[in-house]
Amino acid sequence: MHGVIIHAPKDLRIEPIEVRDPGPHEVRVRIECGGICGSDLHYYHNGGFGTVRIKEPMALGHETAGTIDAVGSEVHHLETGMRVALNPSQPCGTCKFCRKGQSTHCLNMHYFGSAMRFPHAQGMFRQMLVVKENQVFQIPDSMSMSEAANAEPLSVALHAIRQAGSLVGQKVLITGCGPIGALVVIAARYAGASEIVVTDVSDFPLTIAHKAGASTTINVAAHPEELAHYSADKGYFDVLFEASGNEAAFRSAVETVCPGGRVIQLGLGGEMGIVMNTIVTKELQLLGSFRFDAEFGYAVDLMSKKLIDVSPVITAALPFQQAVEAFDLAGDRARAMKVQLTFD
Ligand code: ZN
Repeated sequence: MHGVIIHAPKDLRIEPIEVRDPGPHEVRVRIECGGICGSDLHYYHNGGFGTVRIKEPMALGHETAGTIDAVGSEVHHLETGMRVALNPSQPCGTCKFCRKGQSTHCLNMHYFGSAMRFPHAQGMFRQMLVVKENQVFQIPDSMSMSEAANAEPLSVALHAIRQAGSLVGQKVLITGCGPIGALVVIAARYAGASEIVVTDVSDFPLTIAHKAGASTTINVAAHPEELAHYSADKGYFDVLFEASGNEAAFRSAVETVCPGGRVIQLGLGGEMGIVMNTIVTKELQLLGSFRFDAEFGYAVDLMSKKLIDVSPVITAALPFQQAVEAFDLAGDRARAMKVQLTFD
């Protein structure tokens, strides 16, 4: 069995990886599909982000789906052959935040494919993986493995929508149309937004935003004035989802939000200056949004019932043996959005 292992920036290798039997409350899953996330790309290009750095070889990946291959002795609700989506998040359940129902903020979080802790939490890009039974969500035969592997980023988008509160009849601006921005478009449309404007600095992601349900798209590199005119008369949008992590994008977008509007910051871009005067004088609400919790189950359920279709976001799939090519493609915003690896 093999996995996709990062050793250093631009040093991604396909290497043998150990497979073990599941413990009593674990299952072993034969991975079939795995999506490349922005954080995987940060490890690949830069060896990490912020203070999070690769200090030992680490398997990447945290957006996966597959078929159960073996179940532990105490697992009663799952069986071999079930098709499943895998939640990469494993909060401890006992720290002060877990006990308050804030498991996203767990003090001992184990998140697959993350170098935040040391030894690193090894990732899910591998042919076989053992997970805890509560990380496994059954999917129907009508759902593809490709869709199921998108449950994790869709959960991030759904969490952001919940942070914003009701979107019914709301005018929404989404800045930054990577996979998360595009999934927020899909989720915001489902959640009742009346108008969705999407900005990016590249044309290709904006074509996907259209397919995902955007009312209007603006390339702010080519036509910044098209966004700026929404700033007139104290703004236009009720809700801003800032998904670029870019300070200039944040500053220009906040000016287009109406008094009393909500700004949901999803993009992680290091230290960003806040336009405090605008936030104060327009009485804006600024909220962060990070990862997800119960939304993983909601994501699987909504896709299972065909209420949310994530397929516009998925632009390519390559065999995991071609991981380097896949990572290079995933980093090219002029050609790709969500790139997935297939495992056999
Ligand atoms: Zn905890």
